[in-house]
Amino acid sequence: MKPARVRPIAALWEWQASAACRGLASDRFFSPQGERGAARAERERSAREICEGCVVRDECARFAVESGEQHGVWGGVTGREREAQRQRSRS
Ligand code: SF4
Repeated sequence: MKPARVRPIAALWEWQASAACRGLASDRFFSPQGERGAARAERERSAREICEGCVVRDECARFAVESGEQHGVWGGVTGREREAQRQRSRS
């Protein structure tokens, strides 16, 4: 039997080296405590705008789904949207 190929941990994060958000403040992608309504919508819109031009958008969105990330905009997708996708895939 062939030994299982184990992907090095660093390979899981390689895509981040090309991220359009590299060096930006994380609060552009993650809600500060208590953020609601128009403020949240505007922050998410701004984050999606950055993600739209990102060359690793697909890898980022996939990583968030596979790792069960509940918070933040990853690959232009919010935590609420990922949760809705999870629920749809279960039903
Ligand atoms: S898709 Fe968005 S959150 Fe993901 S790496 Fe690119 S800019 Fe960052």
